Amino acid sequence: MVATVAIVGRPNVGKSTLFNRLVGRKLALVDDRPGVTRDRREGEARLGPLSFNVVDTAGLEEADAESLTGRMRAQTEAAVAGADLVLFVVDVRSGITPADRQFADLVRKSGKPVVLLANKAEGRSGTEASYEAFTLGLGDPVPFSAEHGEGISDLFDALAAHLAMPEEDEADEEDEAARSIRIAIVGRPNAGKSTLINRMVGEERLLTGPEAGITRDSISLDWEWRGRPIKLFDTAGLRKRARIEDKLEKLSVADGLRAVRFAEVVVVLLDATIPFEKQDLTIVDLVEREGRAVVIGLNKWDLVADQPGLLKTLREEADQMLAQVRGVGVVPLSGLAGQGIDRLMEAVIAAHEVWNRRISTAQLNRWLGEATANHPPPAVSGRRIKIRYMTQVKSRPPHFAVFGNQLAALPTAYSRYLVNGLREAFSLPGTPIRLSFRQGDNPYAEHGKPTGRIYKRR
Ligand code: GDP
Repeated sequence: MVATVAIVGRPNVGKSTLFNRLVGRKLALVDDRPGVTRDRREGEARLGPLSFNVVDTAGLEEADAESLTGRMRAQTEAAVAGADLVLFVVDVRSGITPADRQFADLVRKSGKPVVLLANKAEGRSGTEASYEAFTLGLGDPVPFSAEHGEGISDLFDALAAHLAMPEEDEADEEDEAARSIRIAIVGRPNAGKSTLINRMVGEERLLTGPEAGITRDSISLDWEWRGRPIKLFDTAGLRKRARIEDKLEKLSVADGLRAVRFAEVVVVLLDATIPFEKQDLTIVDLVEREGRAVVIGLNKWDLVADQPGLLKTLREEADQMLAQVRGVGVVPLSGLAGQGIDRLMEAVIAAHEVWNRRISTAQLNRWLGEATANHPPPAVSGRRIKIRYMTQVKSRPPHFAVFGNQLAALPTAYSRYLVNGLREAFSLPGTPIRLSFRQGDNPYAEHGKPTGRIYKRR
């Protein structure tokens, strides 16, 4: 059975734009024929491997926005009642309004699972309102920009937590080994992506077309390595050359690297004869921001004269320049000669394991006690910042919530200290690590989900 997701929120928070993003423009345009008024739109949404029905209550925006009584309320209630999951949208640029709270009450009363989307958060704007959104009591807000397509991977993760993945329906954690690992291979034009993928899957497999369930713009190939099923996503390498260059030039555009969003591990392929160009660093940055595990492939290693010397240099450079994924696997290889592919895959599997890692709360707090004793947080305006407690709230990538007082004032250098410490102590190399800071709560008093103000840092 396909799940139904209702997009709910007061007028003008961006529900239609979100609907269009999820369903695809073409269908949305057809449905948007002028002169056709309707109270809700429905469509089939695709987000990576997820597919679901989406119901948009945006037609209501023409209704009398003065009151939530009457038609608007009834329609929203109907949409919520028919949904398996509610996607509650707020606008962080305009802040949380009384209307938001009324809609939130309605949704909360329904008892349906909710994903709270803090929309219009492009370029990390509206952070204050994101904190405020937390007070709606609908869980942690997912920062998002429907207009710019930012935050898709966080939305994907939030939805995936509730909706069944088609190919993973039956699988539980023990079956991890039997699941496909989703890998994207990205890099500058001519880094050798196509050559490497050809070498991995074999020429004959390259004619596999776009699959159902995959966003139209990326293509995935099924492969197997040492008995492990692998899905390889390629941004453009499988398509015509002219388009490859085109695509990569628009790398900064949010839509550019869709494949990254649907991958778990991203191999950033460098040309070892011209390594760490600016564009390579931009790519790694993007992958880190999307929260994917990273492995660096040093391709064209066959052309390198002083192999041990260069490897040492490049590993040092990687640690310096890519501090956000410190300890990242750096693997020399040659797609052309078919060398180093097994080592690349070993690094991919290791990165995937780290990315999925869960650390017990007891272990974390033992470590936190030492870390804060060795190097206490500073004082702000005469009062010491207190860090009390920490727990891992998510994996893929590892995400930790830190509880204490005055955490909003915690210097970035201190959160970096914590991230680096976690990375070392729990051996989490090469993976993005997220910290959220939560204010003024006693987490022991809560069941599961802590409440309070949330400060998310990357
Ligand atoms: P893409 O744009 O990243 O897909 O790059 P291609 O796979 O099309 O490769 C670009 C060029 O680099 C081609 O001429 C390849 O033959 C060459 N190339 C790819 N991998 C290697 C390698 O491992 N060693 C050498 N010497 N050349 C390679």
